[in-house]
Amino acid sequence: MLYSLMLFCLEDLRGIEFSVPSVLRACGRSSAFREGNQIFGHVLKIHLWLDPFVANSLVRMWLELGETELARSVFDRMPVRDLISWNSLITGYLRAGEIEFARELFERMPERDLVSCNAMIDGYAKQGMYKLAEDIFTTMKVKDLVTWTTMISAHVLNQCPKKALYLFREMLSEGIRPDAPAIISVLSAIADLGFVEEGKWIHTYISANKIERCSRFIGSALINMYSKCGQIEHAYHVFSSISHQRNIGDWNSMISGFAIHGLGHEAIKLFLDMERAALEPDDITFLGLLSACNHGGLMNEGLSYFETMQAKYKIIPKIQHYGCIVDLLGRSGHLEESLEIIYDMPMEPDVLIWKAILSASIKHNNFKIGQIAALRAMDLAPEDSSCYVLLSNLYAKLGWWDDVARVRTVMKKRGVRKIPGCSSIFVGGKVHQFLIGKAIDVENNQNILSMIEEVISKLKLEGYEPDFNQVLLDLGDNEKECHLALHSEKMALAFGLLTTSHGIPIHIVKNLRICCDCHSFMRLVSKIYNRRIIVRDQNRFHRFENGYCSCKDHW
Ligand code: ZN
Ligand code: ZN
Repeated sequence: MLYSLMLFCLEDLRGIEFSVPSVLRACGRSSAFREGNQIFGHVLKIHLWLDPFVANSLVRMWLELGETELARSVFDRMPVRDLISWNSLITGYLRAGEIEFARELFERMPERDLVSCNAMIDGYAKQGMYKLAEDIFTTMKVKDLVTWTTMISAHVLNQCPKKALYLFREMLSEGIRPDAPAIISVLSAIADLGFVEEGKWIHTYISANKIERCSRFIGSALINMYSKCGQIEHAYHVFSSISHQRNIGDWNSMISGFAIHGLGHEAIKLFLDMERAALEPDDITFLGLLSACNHGGLMNEGLSYFETMQAKYKIIPKIQHYGCIVDLLGRSGHLEESLEIIYDMPMEPDVLIWKAILSASIKHNNFKIGQIAALRAMDLAPEDSSCYVLLSNLYAKLGWWDDVARVRTVMKKRGVRKIPGCSSIFVGGKVHQFLIGKAIDVENNQNILSMIEEVISKLKLEGYEPDFNQVLLDLGDNEKECHLALHSEKMALAFGLLTTSHGIPIHIVKNLRICCDCHSFMRLVSKIYNRRIIVRDQNRFHRFENGYCSCKDHW
């Protein structure tokens, strides 16, 4: 039928330039290569391709048929090209991943418009070329919602949540109303930063503008934001409020939320509710559930759900599921069993699995397995500073200072740099960041240092003893004590005590894992100063209250 339609068009040459484009479009959409090629031949024969409207349709047809080279040859021969010609080919190249061809064309464009700029920002971001995406964004005089949203999600992908949040605010001040994708991106940025006040504001905005109705992903984005900001009750409140329209993503986000808060029993209860609601769990559900059992110290339950996942739901475990089980067994002291799992796995263990074994070996003083794990981890990721740090920890625990120094020399030789510990706290509408012994945006540290000193002397009366095992440098006890006292999370805590009123919980976000000394320090401060302290470290949340931590010292 399509073919007879084409013949009909080509037989009647009057007004043919109007009918050919629609036939070309039909060929592109129905993947009719042979017919498209025949029309292409006729179009060339009667010089119809000189008509820009027809030529643009040809370019688009070839792109839809996946023939980028043919599309390009038509484009190159066009006597007149308009914005549609340039944009069609650029987006065609981007869709085929051919970023370099798109870039070459974009740079040659006589005049760039919103469509081409937005397409290039998106294309660059998808290829991880964030700097180039940002360069286009900053030079654009006119931006629309797509421009802003694309750049915001590019910053989220590039792990620059602060920039994403900043841009979102700028977009609002330009009078542009965000849509669901923009909101979902900014919620993910806020979740990474842990700034709950910003998140609450966005939540109010969503409800006031009824944005939740526009996307089924808003619910899980909110649950994820609240749980990552340490507000698991708020996350659960959102989850309960969408009971009439929950999808699997909402259940999964809630289970993972319970997991990072160490609430293993709550996660299991939710999973059972999910089964009762006749919802089929997927691999993400089980990843959340296993990680909840892991963080909650529920070894038997974890092992049993690992079994259920395979036997009842026929889900083939991925490396992340094995990682959870290896970690679960290791933390509980079953190091030999976790090694057995590694050797039985159908895939090669990755660096995360070996690091889990290494941490567990340090915790349970198994130096033999620890050393094996350290060497494997360093083989797999020679650039990952945390492997070297863990190995130093192992040697430091033994007091083998020569070996600690040797690890440091290897790091230097290989050009591996230790990631500096950095903690942040949100006070007075502003984020304050701390490194070891240093407040990034406060000129005078003196108040903070005096506060730490005061806290330490109070804590010592309650039996606090600095844990020198956490200091990897071969120093005297006094210097080690000073070094420990200046850890970034202690600096942030002292700042929090100085600047917030009594009774207000202190929220700290740390980029690395909290050390044992800071952990016992926070526990005691929560008791003596009667403050709730919530620390989100690289792995999970610690909620310190009345001298106890929600992780029950199992982290
Ligand atoms: Zn510390
Ligand atoms: Zn803890």
